[in-house]
Amino acid sequence: MSHPQKASDFIADHERTEWHDETLWLVRQKRDKAAHSVPDWELLREQASQIKGHTLSRLDDYLKEFEQNAVSNGIHVHWAADADEHNRIVLQILRDRGVRQLVKSKSMLTEECHLNPFLISEGIEVIDTDLGERIVQLADEAPSHIVMPAIHMRKEEVGDLFHNHLGSEAGASDPAYLTNVARQHLRKSFLTADAALTGVNFAVAETGGFVVCTNEGNADLGVHLAPTHIASMGIEKIIPRAEDLGVFLRLLARSATGQDLTVYTSHFHGPREGAEIHLVLVDNGRSDRLGQDEFRDSLKCIRCGACMNTCPVYRRSGGHSYGWTVPGPLGSVLAPHVDMESFSSLPFASTLCGSCTDVCPVKIDLHGQLYAWRQKIIAKHVASDHLLAMRFLGFVLARPLMYRVAGWIGRWMIRYGRPVVQRGLLKSWGASRDLPDAPAQSFRSWYLKNRKTS
Ligand code: SF4
Repeated sequence: MSHPQKASDFIADHERTEWHDETLWLVRQKRDKAAHSVPDWELLREQASQIKGHTLSRLDDYLKEFEQNAVSNGIHVHWAADADEHNRIVLQILRDRGVRQLVKSKSMLTEECHLNPFLISEGIEVIDTDLGERIVQLADEAPSHIVMPAIHMRKEEVGDLFHNHLGSEAGASDPAYLTNVARQHLRKSFLTADAALTGVNFAVAETGGFVVCTNEGNADLGVHLAPTHIASMGIEKIIPRAEDLGVFLRLLARSATGQDLTVYTSHFHGPREGAEIHLVLVDNGRSDRLGQDEFRDSLKCIRCGACMNTCPVYRRSGGHSYGWTVPGPLGSVLAPHVDMESFSSLPFASTLCGSCTDVCPVKIDLHGQLYAWRQKIIAKHVASDHLLAMRFLGFVLARPLMYRVAGWIGRWMIRYGRPVVQRGLLKSWGASRDLPDAPAQSFRSWYLKNRKTS
């Protein structure tokens, strides 16, 4: 299904659409306030963009430097060319250690690789420990936002879900109560799990260490209790030096949620005594993007989610309407790399207002990339309905008489056939819009009367 088809399910619930829009706009406003509190914000953005640009220009060197330093720190480094290889590596690590239960903190890369269903099909119990992730896992849904995975759900829905799965009080929907229920439930898993998996926010080539940012401390609880820590990392997460971290950490939390810093910013430089760390470096199409000038900058992304919070289309259509792991403007840029035909509607799910580009902390030209995808898709005739409409428009515009007749019909329809147009021909468009009043005369007839003779 295309984005408009999936979005129609979401917007059928007007109330949900309203508060989804309002809630995300609130997050966007918090981001603005946090950004304005830093006098050199624009300088930080520029610096972050340049550091990432430089890193990408020497990605192979920095990855090798990172591997060398990580290995000398006692970290086992694995390389995965694609999602399948990543999943197989993780499974092998778990099997070799007889692991039956894995606690996971939030990792969009493992969502991209569909790790959970793979491990479950191999008999491993996987428990997502980020609260939002656990909610969508219990609901058997995909995350609808990369930072707030369950943002599409009402607290009453979460209350029902917890009542059915975790035995909380029927009808309870107080967020503090529900959070406490989740905490008690997850604590048992933390104590019994044999391994913990985390994502990676930043990996430092110079030190061979990496950083994981969370607000709930779930990553730390998992990796400090289990003897085996597996970290899954996209190869673009590398930065050259430890001192670069300050630039990105100042930008990340402010852009994501309007916080000065994530509550837990944990640095891992090697395993503690008696434990081990395995880090899986994943390509999965990233090298291809690195080789494409117009899309390379998308690899600068630090996954803050700000482009989603500000996007008028995402806010009003919900994350699931994108049908891919990452929604919003970023997802619409990334998904066609995976399958241009299946995701051909996503680059069109944008007003091209440029708000995503304006808020992006690493200055990715998101709306420019969406526009570039549109051109590619049109050129390949994937979006044949758009092409057909444009061809028809071109045909009419090239014939003045036909254009005049079409204008006359259009004005007549607005004046006398408004219900037919709004509730019939353009039903889905007209459901939440009003047609403008038809002008008394066309510009052409006004011009002929007022200007031509003078
Ligand atoms: S593209 Fe930019 S704004 Fe969007 S998630 Fe990535 S870093 Fe954040």
